[in-house]
Amino acid sequence: MEKLEKLFQYQIIDQKLEEINDKLKNTATRLRLQTIQDYLQKQSEAIKKLEQSLIVKQNDVDDAGEQLKKLKSEFELLAKEIEAAVKDELDSNELPYVKTLVQDQEKVYDQLSKQKKRLESVISESEGVDEKLKTVMVNVTKAKKEFADLKVKHDLEIKDNEPEIEKLKAELEKAEKKVDAVLIQRYQKIKSSMTTPIVLVTGDTCPGCNMNIPSSQMTKIKQGEILECESCGRIIYVKE
Ligand SMILES: [Zn+2]
Repeated sequence: MEKLEKLFQYQIIDQKLEEINDKLKNTATRLRLQTIQDYLQKQSEAIKKLEQSLIVKQNDVDDAGEQLKKLKSEFELLAKEIEAAVKDELDSNELPYVKTLVQDQEKVYDQLSKQKKRLESVISESEGVDEKLKTVMVNVTKAKKEFADLKVKHDLEIKDNEPEIEKLKAELEKAEKKVDAVLIQRYQKIKSSMTTPIVLVTGDTCPGCNMNIPSSQMTKIKQGEILECESCGRIIYVKE
């Protein structure tokens, strides 16, 4: 039983240490830091997408501008051709070639108006993306600043608890030396799935799971066997 008493003492210190660590992991500052970190991660993906979209939109703007230029020179060229054709066909009343050219010019003019609208629309889309990107950048900068400030605060929280943690760590190390290595291993294995690996039993139920401990098992435990609760797997400790 003495072996288990030492393990039980070890657990008390181990749990105190866990409690402090848990407390530090769950302070308002730490939780907010986590939230900001998640936010920044998401924003970084959003920024990448917006930047890619901006490149596409800028290409659209360049392309629409280029098309517009071509149509403008086509239009001007036709204007010159019409001027020349008018002179050539001055004698004819019908001006057939001039008519064809004018029709062509009207078509180009239609295309020109459409292209102009397209250019305006892609410029406005591109500006929209740019605006969004700027807003995200401003928010990210703010979040980064808040993160840095909170990090300082959280580091102080950790620092404040450091003496207590160091003290408990030293105590835990001392307590560990008193317990069988095999038993510590057994304890750690149980701890990976539950918080209290060893339970002090005073009646005939396991305080870990509230299930009854069979009397045959109790007898073996009282004879010095180290057994685990049949239903939850915790090491049962009975004080002599
Ligand atoms: Zn149990």
